[in-house]
Amino acid sequence: MLVCKFGGTSMANAETISKVAEIVNSDPDRRYVVVSAPGKRDASDTKVTDLLYQCFNDAVSKGSCHESFKLVREHFDAIIKGLNLDLDFSEDYDEIEENINKSTTADYAASRGEYLSAKILAAKLGYVFLDAARVVKFNEEGELQLHYSLDLFRNVMENIERAVIPGFYGTKPSGEIKTFTRGGSDISGAIIARAAKADVYENWTDVDGFLRADPRIVQKPELIDCLTYRELRELAYMGANVLHPESIFPVRSVGIPINIRNTFNPDSKGTMIVAPNKRLDSKRIITGIAGQKGFTVILIEKAMMNSEVGFARKVMSVLEYENISFEHMPSGIDTLSIVIRDEQIQNKMQKVVDKIRDAVNADNVEIHSGLSLIATVGHNMASRHGTAATLFSALAKANINVRMIDQGSSELNIIVGVDTYDYEKAINAIYHAFMEAENGISIY
Ligand code: ADP
Ligand code: ASP
Ligand code: MG
Repeated sequence: MLVCKFGGTSMANAETISKVAEIVNSDPDRRYVVVSAPGKRDASDTKVTDLLYQCFNDAVSKGSCHESFKLVREHFDAIIKGLNLDLDFSEDYDEIEENINKSTTADYAASRGEYLSAKILAAKLGYVFLDAARVVKFNEEGELQLHYSLDLFRNVMENIERAVIPGFYGTKPSGEIKTFTRGGSDISGAIIARAAKADVYENWTDVDGFLRADPRIVQKPELIDCLTYRELRELAYMGANVLHPESIFPVRSVGIPINIRNTFNPDSKGTMIVAPNKRLDSKRIITGIAGQKGFTVILIEKAMMNSEVGFARKVMSVLEYENISFEHMPSGIDTLSIVIRDEQIQNKMQKVVDKIRDAVNADNVEIHSGLSLIATVGHNMASRHGTAATLFSALAKANINVRMIDQGSSELNIIVGVDTYDYEKAINAIYHAFMEAENGISIY
């Protein structure tokens, strides 16, 4: 049995939804289907989820989302008309608009895109619409209750042979709607795949699979035919947003493979994401490259720091008190750097610098903004000599200054920090250097 998730690009308009229906109907094993809200129909369009967040903001700031909600109505009405469905959402629209105006939560507003999208596909396929509010459960703190959700879905499944389920949200014990973070329908799909004991979790999107670099940065990157859950997690967490980085957790422990497929090219086999013992042998040196802009480094200098017991703890206490999480903490003999996402430290920079200086009596504390991180990832890296040399000489040749280096202890990745203005150039330099090295052309 297969569980499929179709993303926003696949659910964007009547034409793409017809392709989705063709794919589902082409294999009777595709029994449970999870969907996202409609995405952009063209480059100038706005995703329905973004429209709904706008509706919520308008309700809070202007007291009404009537104007912005019109765009949501129009988008869904165009889909219903294009698919020739006998569906009337008037009551749903009025209820949703009224609820958003009553200043329910942003999560409630955002979730309605998936809710309506699933109702449409259920009608198109003749499947049951199963509201995620019934089966995906969080606790009051907003943490997913995986096992409770699996039990609920399994109970429902006994009576429902085929269903379409909205992705992205579930409910807290109070009944309040709670969403995952953006892109979270991938997680919903993984939960349903686990609950249904699927043979494969198919994740349908608008690219042929997981590519070795972001296709918006590198021209025509190679397709990865197979990668492990760990590699996927590293790449997705570092910015390869084709799949949500948390979507492996429900399926990894039971070994359900994830297959990324292209709705617009269903003949392509896509990418399989599997456990390490199921990995196909590959001559690749690296598996892929991913990165993200928007990091800040706090550089702390103090003579003899390395011999001072409790130094890092004092720094961490400041961050904990200020509710700041950090990404990396590379250290030298007398220096410690902390890499933090910009949004974590915005508006608090000077306060944090002063507090750290006082807490550890530092000689110097500096802030450097405008950093981007790039991760080069792959299981094969550990067993190959010269991987780091290939990476760093590629950056040197491209005249790129490396501001930070962090190699994970598993040797599964090397992360470098570069100035954001060098970001795209750096990814291209690393990508092409490894392509040449793998094809036997030395770059030295
Ligand atoms: P969906 O709407 O199906 O959830 P997303 O927009 O979330 O789709 O993810 C697909 C997009 O991810 C692709 O269109 C591509 O631009 C982007 N992307 C970024 N990095 C990669 C990568 N390494 N491989 C494939 N796609 C990537
Ligand atoms: N619609 C949500 C978003 O845009 C969730 C998803 O597409 O997975 O983030
Ligand atoms: Mg997505």
